[in-house]
Amino acid sequence: MCSLKKSNKIAIIGAGPAGLMAAQVLSEAGLSPIVFDAMPSAGRKFLQAGRGGLNLTHGEDFSLFCTRYFEAQTFLQPALEAFSPSHIRLWAKELGFETFVGSSGKVYPLDKKAAPLLRAWIHQLKSNNTEFKMKHRLVSWSKDIWQFQTPDGLKEYSFEGVILALGGASWSRLGSTGAWAKILEEKGLRLSPFKPANMGFNVSWSEVFKEKFSGTPLKNVELSFSDTKGNLQTQLGELLISQDGVQGSLIYSHSKLLRERIEQEFPLTVHLDLFPHRTLTKLEEQLSRPQGKQSLSAFWKRLGLSGVRASLLREVLEKDSLTQSKLVAQTLKKFPLTLESTRPLEEAISTAGGLAFENLDEHLMLKEFPGVFCVGEMLDWETPTGGYLISGVMAQGKQAALGLLNRCKNDKRNIQI
Ligand SMILES: Cc1cc2nc3c(=O)[nH]c(=O)nc-3n(C[C@H](O)[C@H](O)[C@H](O)COP(=O)(O)OP(=O)(O)OC[C@H]3O[C@@H](n4cnc5c(N)ncnc54)[C@H](O)[C@@H]3O)c2cc1C
Repeated sequence: MCSLKKSNKIAIIGAGPAGLMAAQVLSEAGLSPIVFDAMPSAGRKFLQAGRGGLNLTHGEDFSLFCTRYFEAQTFLQPALEAFSPSHIRLWAKELGFETFVGSSGKVYPLDKKAAPLLRAWIHQLKSNNTEFKMKHRLVSWSKDIWQFQTPDGLKEYSFEGVILALGGASWSRLGSTGAWAKILEEKGLRLSPFKPANMGFNVSWSEVFKEKFSGTPLKNVELSFSDTKGNLQTQLGELLISQDGVQGSLIYSHSKLLRERIEQEFPLTVHLDLFPHRTLTKLEEQLSRPQGKQSLSAFWKRLGLSGVRASLLREVLEKDSLTQSKLVAQTLKKFPLTLESTRPLEEAISTAGGLAFENLDEHLMLKEFPGVFCVGEMLDWETPTGGYLISGVMAQGKQAALGLLNRCKNDKRNIQI
């Protein structure tokens, strides 16, 4: 048994899914980690994720799954292999929650909820000697002294091993403020600037359009644009019209490439095929049929052109042009959507940027600070929505915990396992 169990010298700072998975691996190995978090309770972002249906992972082929991590794939591959989508489903099952693969390949617990799963997880951790210290905000780290702001004032601790799992910098009210960046920068570590990921984009809708269609989904459309390398990206899906622009899965799945484009050039015009299952010729033919005595709206409606699609046309075409069947058909097939800028980081589902991988070894341990590991959304990687975030952060939590255990085994000076 590792002597650290008695001295309680292992800390996990940050009680999101990354930190909790690290705690699970350590406690199952017989250690007694202490989980610190600034918030009054653990896993607030995880709980928020459950509001829209907790998407734990993705059921697609594993080799495709790994590509979703973009440039970070190489670095994260070992962690993803050691905690793959099958492992995460087994993990949920062992906590008493069966999962299912939805039609899009996304994997959810049967009830799609996060709260019961989180409760069971924390209960299991507590019964397995994991201690939780809430309302402990890490405010400084100097040599081996870790200082926390608590309701009872500043408290100092020192540890034999630390896993930092401090999250990104969006939805700060849930705890992930990104304020940790300053602490790590002061240690000379390299960080990339935080950027929004899986976020919406601003579009200047007219007041009338905004009022009528904000909150309306636009289903079955095809987005197309060129990425910064000049490759044409196209994808069918659904987006959501918002007060300020567009958001939703179709936008999120390309948010990285769109953000990179908009960093080079803004506003950025991308295109939507509003009738991807009808050819241009067919649309032109339908729109050039005699309108008779019907109003234009009634004529369009009979062709299936109504609601948000019809109003989008009115956003970009002059009133006089709306009867030009060729122009209308072309606009429907290649609707110009002008993205002005990204929505703010605070609103984003996740954060790009953060602590660079170059600071870490293959166990996610800081090369300059042996015994201190960093995991989860605080690291500089990104992935689309689809369960890849939770999968990725939990895999990293496990990776670091295994690294720490390995270190325990090898450190003959003060630890015997
Ligand atoms: C609306 C929404 C829906 C989402 N839905 C999904 C989904 O369905 N599927 C999916 O895969 N992902 C989803 N995500 C993303 C997912 O929740 C996050 O990627 C994941 O929670 C990140 O895990 P983490 O442990 O790295 O960080 P976090 O979960 O952010 O946890 C970090 C913890 O660190 C604590 N902390 C921060 N600073 C300090 C400090 N100085 N001292 C002490 N504690 C500190 C925070 O309080 C927090 O508890 C969603 C996110 C949002 C916002």
